[in-house]
Amino acid sequence: MKFAIVDNIKSEPKKGQTGFCLSCGSLMISKCGEKKIHHWSHKGKLECDTWWENETQWHRNWKGHFPEDWQEVVHRDETTGERHIADVKTDQEWVIEFQHSFLKTDERNSRNAFYKKLVWVVDGKRLKGDEVEIMRAIENGTPFDFTRKILPSSCSLLRDWNSNHPVFFDFGQDKLIVLLPKCHDGMLYVCQFLRSEFIEIFLHGSTDKSINFQELLVNFPKYVLSLSSSVTSA
Ligand SMILES: [Zn+2]
Repeated sequence: MKFAIVDNIKSEPKKGQTGFCLSCGSLMISKCGEKKIHHWSHKGKLECDTWWENETQWHRNWKGHFPEDWQEVVHRDETTGERHIADVKTDQEWVIEFQHSFLKTDERNSRNAFYKKLVWVVDGKRLKGDEVEIMRAIENGTPFDFTRKILPSSCSLLRDWNSNHPVFFDFGQDKLIVLLPKCHDGMLYVCQFLRSEFIEIFLHGSTDKSINFQELLVNFPKYVLSLSSSVTSA
């Protein structure tokens, strides 16, 4: 993790330091070696959050766009008491999860169910062929409003990530590829969105522009449904 509690302050690791876990309160040891990115690690046991993945510079760059208070926020389910550490939780209660490594379907489903307002940002550069596959699928898709409508069979990456939450794929370009939340017709809806706008919108979540965008993300499936039923009834 990037943060632990040191002298009651949420702190980044320094060599030879100890601190306490933000989530479980256990003793944490700073790891400030040459190979891995500097981080905190639980002393002598596994990480308390089984969903936690070792961070890369890619994670840290993304998280660094948001205030420290928003990074690594413990999110607790009021009913079950289950706890996880969200990469970023905004002042509008959006959880942003930055995912670099492969996620098994069941684990992805658990996270999709646990967080109600969730946005995924996926490191698209992990596997070489993914960008080509996704771009080809977009090209072969059909225009639909501000999106491209894509057959699930044309891209396994998009199909696997399709859920009730939006997914932003980061291929290291200025624009992110956005997979919109799952729609009733089983098709995939994709658009492009500027990285700088993404940061702006979640950083300043109460502006009109940001609220409109958040509503669009939430209501997109309803919007598609309303358009298709108006076509049917015409
Ligand atoms: Zn812990």
